[in-house]
Amino acid sequence: MTENLYLTIQELTDTRLVKAGISLRSGGVSDTPYRSLNLATHVGDNPEAVIQNRQRFSNRTGITSLKYCQQIHSNTVINGNTLPLTLFNNINPNLTTVSGDALITTNHGDTIGVFTADCVSIFILDIATPAIGIVHAGWRGTIARIVTNALAQMMNFYGTHAENCLIHLGPSIQQCCYEVSSELLTRFEEHFGQDVHNGHSLSLHTANVIQLVNVGVPTEFISTSPFCTSCRTDMFYSYRAEGGQTGRMLSYIQLI
Ligand SMILES: [Zn+2]
Repeated sequence: MTENLYLTIQELTDTRLVKAGISLRSGGVSDTPYRSLNLATHVGDNPEAVIQNRQRFSNRTGITSLKYCQQIHSNTVINGNTLPLTLFNNINPNLTTVSGDALITTNHGDTIGVFTADCVSIFILDIATPAIGIVHAGWRGTIARIVTNALAQMMNFYGTHAENCLIHLGPSIQQCCYEVSSELLTRFEEHFGQDVHNGHSLSLHTANVIQLVNVGVPTEFISTSPFCTSCRTDMFYSYRAEGGQTGRMLSYIQLI
């Protein structure tokens, strides 16, 4: 049996407009604590192992190049149309110097992606234009409303309307495992209302869905992954469950 290296985001790929998925942690060569399919170079893993992992992932998915940014937990959105394409197997860190936490594009054939381990990856597909976006939203990015900003920039650059957008929220740490401080709960409640938490447990998914609905994305166009990265460290990396030192999954989307 061949090991699964990624999950397909069926809700988006069913449109036949895109390839979209998220890598899993199995099937790679990295050692503990990066075991095994770590695709990120910025977390202290052996670069040779990351190259091999990326090669395996490329062979399986057909993704050979990638546009991504240096993620800084901001609400900065990069227009991927003007960003140079990086060969996915070339891990020279100087090749990506753009900082931000979301990418958008209308270029067919260009893959955009974000790296996560607990944070929410948010896939955006404007089926009318068509245009796509990918967002990295931890609690900082969520409070900074990065997903709302990504939609605003898609409207600005490409004429996207929220009511034409299919959205998927990827595997992330979920309410079952995400206890946060009272101070942070209060901040979230001020921004997004009481529904974002249950006791001290925060739902980043809910906080992002509220934002999406508020800017006009139809509820029925929003799907969410059932997986909690912290509960399922057999499938995913979890920054919190693994004490801060671990690998990263890649969430990717490409207009075909
Ligand atoms: Zn959990």
